[in-house]
Amino acid sequence: MLSIKKMYKLLLEEFSYQNWWPVFEEKSERPVYRYRKKLTELQMQEICIGAILTQNTAWQNVVKALQNLRRANKLSFKKIARSNVQEIARLIKPSGYYNQKAARLKKFAEFVLKNFGSLQKMFSLPLEQLRALLISLHGIGKETADNILLYAAFKKSFVVDAYTLRIFERIGYGKLSYEQAKGLVEQELKDLRELQEFHALLVRFAQNYCLRRNPRCGECFLKKYCKFANTLA
Ligand code: SF4
Repeated sequence: MLSIKKMYKLLLEEFSYQNWWPVFEEKSERPVYRYRKKLTELQMQEICIGAILTQNTAWQNVVKALQNLRRANKLSFKKIARSNVQEIARLIKPSGYYNQKAARLKKFAEFVLKNFGSLQKMFSLPLEQLRALLISLHGIGKETADNILLYAAFKKSFVVDAYTLRIFERIGYGKLSYEQAKGLVEQELKDLRELQEFHALLVRFAQNYCLRRNPRCGECFLKKYCKFANTLA
């Protein structure tokens, strides 16, 4: 069976570093992918906003919504908390489910500001406590919580998504639950950057090779390790 460590190594060799999570830079038109060892409070907030906006939609739609928020000078918790939901909804329309997401953004921003004053303060909570708190909030599921933890809070909490579960199942790990897949990865990858990269690499791999319908097994560099491909042969 292909180990997680080896899978990570092969994906990294193929695609190199993905440098998630992208954030705007002073003069950039779009969020910029760059490895950052530290984030500012506003960058952390932007990542949380992006993590909520990316629920059930493609990243290119999120970028349009983020651009709208930025142009309207609303890309911060303070500005979102002070705006009404309809105003936010109008700006984030490209990301879909905009009424729901606008309410989620506003509630999340208000919660953080009211209870902690800043994300930096909130992120000083121990990982398990912080994860439980995030998941308890309105509209924050496990995947969104782990995106926030891994990419905004720099906590070692691996993000599982439908791509991860599909790839692991096809490789031969069987049908795993969210927590099983997360545990499997965290047992083998101990470094923050490895966890950040592995999730991003799995997304890239799923979109380029391990497609839901018609996976490109013939050209896939993981083919010789893959149970699904070997049952086809
Ligand atoms: S061989 Fe096919 S099913 Fe297996 S990992 Fe590659 S693309 Fe996915």
